[in-house]
Amino acid sequence: MTHESLQEIVCCMGQPVAGNPSQFMMERAFAAAGLDWRYLTLEVTPEDLPAAVAGMKAMGFSGGNFTIPHKVAVIAHLNRLTEAAELMGAVNCVFAEEDGFVGENTDGKGFVAALKEVVEPEGKKVVLFGAGGAARAIAVELGLNKVASIDVVNRDAGRGRDLANLLTERVGIAARWIPWNGKHTLPEDADLVINGTSIGLSDAAAMLPVDLDTFRESMLVADVSFNPPQTAFLQAAEDAGCQAIDGLGMLVNQGAIGFKIWTGIEPDRAVMREALEEYLGI
Ligand code: NDP
Repeated sequence: MTHESLQEIVCCMGQPVAGNPSQFMMERAFAAAGLDWRYLTLEVTPEDLPAAVAGMKAMGFSGGNFTIPHKVAVIAHLNRLTEAAELMGAVNCVFAEEDGFVGENTDGKGFVAALKEVVEPEGKKVVLFGAGGAARAIAVELGLNKVASIDVVNRDAGRGRDLANLLTERVGIAARWIPWNGKHTLPEDADLVINGTSIGLSDAAAMLPVDLDTFRESMLVADVSFNPPQTAFLQAAEDAGCQAIDGLGMLVNQGAIGFKIWTGIEPDRAVMREALEEYLGI
């Protein structure tokens, strides 16, 4: 690092974005890697998004993360998308190439990386609750990683059917939408059960309508919620003898994948997880 060189800049744009933990996590990882990089958290309205992305280009940002409400709208301002981002129709991470920005989606990749610390997804039978942005990202990446099948359990028929169709028609794996009426019964042969809904976000006591008696010890159970990471759903799964994966692993890994895309360097994921836990007061 020389004092004559300019710092590299990346950012997170969203609204509302105060309280987003990415900056804290990323700046710790930059410091641990000895990189003179800065990560800015920027509140940007939907009306200002085009000017804000043009500003990133004009100022030579290396890339950035995009969060609610910009994950779909940002696509119109990018040069091209990766395969996963194109399938998902949403972008949470952009990186600069010579003449513009490329859109990627690291949410599902982060989930799969956390999953692979425990088990290989190939051939697994999956039950996925939810069909929103996070669930869609997870489902596409699980499909690209050749799971055997995905049951998409979702309240809204349109979103549920749309995701199941995407998986069968474009990703090429067995999938179906199952309406979520009352307490859902888990099939005995499910290998992986995922809460991809926002139930549990900021509410440790909130529980999914699931028949808890249908948990089996053989099931691996995951939750996307990272605040709090120990949800009532994961607790119930652990009480039934299942192995559980919390949403912090997904968050750390999606951040680590973005870090590697921008810098070319593998970050210290333990440093990132520690930073997150400190920020969230866990
Ligand atoms: P969306 O708003 O896009 O989707 C929300 C999903 O939750 C929908 O499928 C919705 O169902 C379902 N849902 C919400 N409330 C209920 C309910 N009471 N009963 C049944 N279903 C319900 O949100 P996101 O996908 O963007 O985010 C979901 C969660 O994922 C959030 O908690 C977010 O913090 C987390 N997340 C975690 C990440 C990580 O790295 N750990 C990364 C990204 C997100 P319906 O379609 O029927 O309305």
